[in-house]
Amino acid sequence: MKDVVVIGAGVGGLASAVRMASRGHRVTMLEAGNSVGGKLAEHRDAGHRFDRGPSLFTMPELMEELDRLVPEGPGRPPQFTYRTLDRSTHYFWEGEPEPLVAWTDNLKFAKDVETRWGVPTKELLRHLATSRDAFELTRGVFLERSLHNLKTYASLAAWKLLGRFWKLPLLGTLHGHNARQFKEPKLQQLFNRYATYNGSDPYRAPAMMHVIPHLEHGIGTFLPEGGMRSIPLHLEKLATHLGVAIHTGCAAVQIVHNDHRVTGVKDAQGTTHKADLVVSNADLHPTYRKLLPDLKAPEKILGQERSTSGIIFYWGVRGHHPQLGLHNILFSEDYKAEFQHIQDRGTPGPDPTVYINITSKELPEDAPEGHENWFVLMNVKADPDLWTDDAVEKLKAEVLDKVKRTLGTCPDIVCEQVLRPQDIEGLTGSWKGALYGASSNSAAAAFLRHRNRSSQLEGLYFCGGSVHPGGGIPLCLLGAKIVDDLAHAS
Ligand SMILES: Cc1cc2nc3c(=O)[nH]c(=O)nc-3n(C[C@H](O)[C@H](O)[C@H](O)COP(=O)(O)OP(=O)(O)OC[C@H]3O[C@@H](n4cnc5c(N)ncnc54)[C@H](O)[C@@H]3O)c2cc1C
Repeated sequence: MKDVVVIGAGVGGLASAVRMASRGHRVTMLEAGNSVGGKLAEHRDAGHRFDRGPSLFTMPELMEELDRLVPEGPGRPPQFTYRTLDRSTHYFWEGEPEPLVAWTDNLKFAKDVETRWGVPTKELLRHLATSRDAFELTRGVFLERSLHNLKTYASLAAWKLLGRFWKLPLLGTLHGHNARQFKEPKLQQLFNRYATYNGSDPYRAPAMMHVIPHLEHGIGTFLPEGGMRSIPLHLEKLATHLGVAIHTGCAAVQIVHNDHRVTGVKDAQGTTHKADLVVSNADLHPTYRKLLPDLKAPEKILGQERSTSGIIFYWGVRGHHPQLGLHNILFSEDYKAEFQHIQDRGTPGPDPTVYINITSKELPEDAPEGHENWFVLMNVKADPDLWTDDAVEKLKAEVLDKVKRTLGTCPDIVCEQVLRPQDIEGLTGSWKGALYGASSNSAAAAFLRHRNRSSQLEGLYFCGGSVHPGGGIPLCLLGAKIVDDLAHAS
């Protein structure tokens, strides 16, 4: 039995705590915020409930795997529950009043695409099949193992990958790959948008991002019962049941070490928690700059471009909008110009792509009778300095204009809150408010993500969106598994 201290109760930290405690270790969690969850927070406003961060949930088997680590018995929390959705997204373009519904039944989706744009069904099905093959071929190496462990390269998964390397989309950018597959620009745009799943730019991100559509169109789209917030709350219950001591409102201020190994973590109240193992779920920047100022920081990794951030409006909206579903995208007319604008000036420009998530479509209790809860997100550069009140107001006007042009109606807003990059940084410690740590805008990005085990201090591990394998809930859950494997490899 070891003493383990986990810093940060984001989804990666919680999953690490569950894994460590299920092995019988004594686990203490220090969380700076007043509750667990990190980016998976929620708020309520005028009878509406809003998930503040993630809205899209895939790979639920990773939550089930954590459930299986906790034996049945008195007081054991009920299993995590979720529903399987029949569609991922309603896609809209200006001048086309009917959305294109992305059914998770691929044949149905492909037939709708054929009817709309004349793209042969088999072309779309082939595209989705190559996404599946690339995902299955790479997951065992790039998602489920450390890239900094020699054993990874001797694994069966690595040999399989090597044998079929030629099958992977290795050339050029994601946009280039999609443009080679489809002539229809709107279909290219639809598949380009998967780069935003990890905060990247499809015109710069490598073609390998083509693995991402498989998450929705192969594995599926799901919604946790109770909304996204139930993910960290469930992990908190599992952790507490296993005896993890969770201290909220308790920031770590220093990782204490001696003779090249960790010995404890000091909190803001001055208590030092003894540790044989420390798992930092805090963003890599503050981990090095604040908690380990005496250690040589990996400057090249820290200097990488950040993933995008977001401006999010949380609107309580009077009325019902039958053309909208749970996930909706209102595409800009010129996607390339929009990403160029984000890169050059930080904002999407006058014609933003607007993502609207409405959980009350599936969970009516999330909004009062006759209302909907709109979570409205636009991609922006991770740069807190840009977002003055005036800049937010300007973007709001552009968004309302876009909604009017696309849906032919303006939302009747009854309450509003806003989240900006500086809020994300302030609330979760995510450097510059990036949603997914470093961007994946280069082919080398996967190899440049920080390792999960420190090469400088024995007993120090890293998990969460700013380190390998990357951001997003599934990857953070996989990162916790990698940490657990590394810490217990004989
Ligand atoms: C608006 C938005 C939309 C998103 N959409 C999606 C989506 O649809 N699907 C998806 O999969 N992902 C999405 N993401 C990304 C996803 O939320 C993150 O990748 C993931 O939640 C990050 O988890 P994490 O484990 O890195 O921890 P984080 O959520 O980053 O939490 C880190 C925790 O560490 C704590 N902490 C930091 N420093 C200290 C310290 N010194 N001491 C103690 N505690 C500390 C923080 O308070 C925080 O609670 C979105 C994110 C945002 C913000």
